[in-house]
Amino acid sequence: MGFFDWIKSFFLKKPENLYVLQKKEIETYLAADPDSFMRSLDTMNKTARQIHTPSFIAGHFCNINRAEHKRITNATRTVDNMLQKENGSLHEALERWKISYTQLIQIPWVIGVMATNSYERGMSHTRGIVIIIHRKVLASQALESTLLHEKIHVYQKMFPSVIDEVLTKKGYFQKSCAIYQRLNPDTNTSTYHHPKYDVPMYASFKDSSMLQSISDVVFPMNDMSLEHPYEECAYEIQRAYEAFYRNIP
Ligand SMILES: [Zn+2]
Repeated sequence: MGFFDWIKSFFLKKPENLYVLQKKEIETYLAADPDSFMRSLDTMNKTARQIHTPSFIAGHFCNINRAEHKRITNATRTVDNMLQKENGSLHEALERWKISYTQLIQIPWVIGVMATNSYERGMSHTRGIVIIIHRKVLASQALESTLLHEKIHVYQKMFPSVIDEVLTKKGYFQKSCAIYQRLNPDTNTSTYHHPKYDVPMYASFKDSSMLQSISDVVFPMNDMSLEHPYEECAYEIQRAYEAFYRNIP
């Protein structure tokens, strides 16, 4: 049984909507490259990720303890509850991107936890429907809004035609792929042009000859949310969540 079938049968059998992958499970999942992200990388993107090293995946993930599991459980429940409160900045932001909160809630939370800053530089991201976060995020104030940000990326992957339609209506258009573009597992492979700021949207490697890491990039207008429309959408909703949360008595 493939991993996706396994995940599906797991959630059909069990009523809960959260599964935290064991260290072994996330390592096996990533080694299989289920969304073909690693296979899609050009030489520059491979070099920046040091993909050639044997320890590229192994050793960077962990099992979590009971207290950490409780924090994830509470955070995902709080996000799901907040999504059901229909008035306020959060729903306005979701509406601007035509994202259905009921569909968002129905997507199960599948989470893997990193223990080092090596794999994808320790940055929160998604692979397929799996959300990958660093262990240190579990203790941070931003846990809930980070999880929501990544869940938006899962939604974008599950409903690409809904998002495409919104982007077309908002005036984003696709450009040919930029040459020094850092690829991001949270986005599709298209490069877009921003309708309001009139800039191409991608993170550009600073100096390809000195390439050390995927963080050696510059963003359009120095704004990381302008890397791609999917990021702009996820950051806008994340910020709306943070503003909304502060206003709940
Ligand atoms: Zn993102």
